[in-house]
Amino acid sequence: MVNRSSIPRSAPQGVDPLLDHAPCGFLSVRDDGVIEYANATLLTLLGWERTALEGQNIVAILPVASRIFYQTHVFPMLRVQGAVTEIYFSLRSRSGQDIPILANGVRRQRQGDAINDCVVIPIRQRIQYEDEILRAKKQAEAAIGAQKQAEATLKHQYERAVALGQITQHIRESLELTQIFAVAAQEVRQCLAADRVGIYRFTADEAAGSNFVSEAVAPGVDSVMVAQVPHQGFGDHYRGIRHNAGTLAIRDIHEMRLLDEHSQLFNQFQVQASLVVPLQKGADLWGLIVIHQCSGPRYWQGVEVELVEDIAAQLALAIHQADLIQRLQSELQERQRTEVRLTQLNAELQRATGLLDQMAHIDPLTQIANRRRFSERLGQEWARLRRDRLPLSLLLFDVDYFKCYNDTYGHQSGDDCLYAIAQAAQRVLGRPTDLLARYGGEEFAVILPNTIRQGAIAVARHIHQAIAALAISHSDSAVGSQITISLGISTLIPSQKLSSTVLIQQADQALYRAKRQGRNRSVVFDPTMLDPRPKSALPPLI
Ligand code: GH3
Ligand code: MG
Ligand code: MG
Repeated sequence: MVNRSSIPRSAPQGVDPLLDHAPCGFLSVRDDGVIEYANATLLTLLGWERTALEGQNIVAILPVASRIFYQTHVFPMLRVQGAVTEIYFSLRSRSGQDIPILANGVRRQRQGDAINDCVVIPIRQRIQYEDEILRAKKQAEAAIGAQKQAEATLKHQYERAVALGQITQHIRESLELTQIFAVAAQEVRQCLAADRVGIYRFTADEAAGSNFVSEAVAPGVDSVMVAQVPHQGFGDHYRGIRHNAGTLAIRDIHEMRLLDEHSQLFNQFQVQASLVVPLQKGADLWGLIVIHQCSGPRYWQGVEVELVEDIAAQLALAIHQADLIQRLQSELQERQRTEVRLTQLNAELQRATGLLDQMAHIDPLTQIANRRRFSERLGQEWARLRRDRLPLSLLLFDVDYFKCYNDTYGHQSGDDCLYAIAQAAQRVLGRPTDLLARYGGEEFAVILPNTIRQGAIAVARHIHQAIAALAISHSDSAVGSQITISLGISTLIPSQKLSSTVLIQQADQALYRAKRQGRNRSVVFDPTMLDPRPKSALPPLI
């Protein structure tokens, strides 16, 4: 045994005085079990005075079980291995209370003696430390969680910006609402990882219900495109949307009080949660973006709702744009229709003008040129042939005894006869520049440009033959039993000194001579024909 008086009363030399007030207990025990040093923390824990404890044998603060454990395990291990780690046992306080502790011990040589230094932590304190560690860990986890949340929000914002960007770009690129809706539905579905996204349009006819006009569905999820959704079936909340024009997020449709039809509809399409955002066209509710979750209930996050609302705003723009374009297109179509109508009217006008022009130059009874056309053409040909110094021939013919014909066969038969003579004479003329005209009542004229006398005589002969070929009976004619004509021929090379009237007068003189010579013949004008026919004999201008 060591004498108590030799035990130092403060921290042994070489031991840091800070150790005295360390947050854990400290104990130095000699090999013989005498406590050489106990720090203030341990003294407080056990309720001993330093003077009373130091110098005592350790057994004084060991309960029976711990005493055996100390002697059979702790002390032998210190001696053999030089250290013990994490040893659980109890120390007895002065008041007799057993305090469970955790000890780490080290065997050291100090001033020639072997000393066993032990750090002692009451388990209660360790639990406290562990609680603190746990709390710190939780705080760290919470901080990591918050960071992850912030990252997720950032990712959402990014995805939202991308989706919005794509839809905006598509709206700019495409004027087709169907295409824009398809892209929007697809983007929203992907961004929200939703099972179904539909674009629903209200029809003007409330009773008829409305349809989904576009949708995007996850693999294996039914399409709602075919569904005719009755307005009534949408129940109060859709009516609410119509009135408030606000978003409606349903976490779990089973928590909602729904009308039967609506409930049936949700069941039919396995809807568990829905998010409905209105699509405005100006002040009117045009339709809805309807998002369905079929896999289970879903809490719709603020960012998700905001994304869909932003897309709805973009779609509202597209709807407005499409409406404008449609109005422009119908205006354009209307204008095109008017233009087509105008072109038709113009063509009709041209036809009418042409008809009028023709009517002004065609004799209605014989359907050949009238006296007006004859005069115009004669003037033109006279001028042209005067320039070219080429001959111009004129034939004038008159039906023989036609007055008698009318008297015998009637005026209508007379008309028919005149028509037949005109058509027969017309068929004789070969050149496009030749012109047959009705000159007066039953008098006809033929302009033969660039035709010499012999040519004119030939044409005259052919006209006689053609009329004879008609074989129109004329029983009261003094020259035969059929219709005949008398014909005068005149040919001139137009010159400055003469006018076309001379040509007419000469042909008329020849015709007069043909009548005088017995009718049914042609006479060529020659200057010896000096018995001029009175002007009044010429029929008036038709
Ligand atoms: P000719 O010439 O041989 O001397 O005897 P004409 O009987 O033919 O005598 P004239 O030339 O004087 O008579 C012309 C007649 O032709 C008078 C009129 O009744 C008839 N006539 C003139 N224009 C028409 C017409 O448009 N239709 C019918 N049916 N007859 C007409
Ligand atoms: Mg006549
Ligand atoms: Mg006559």
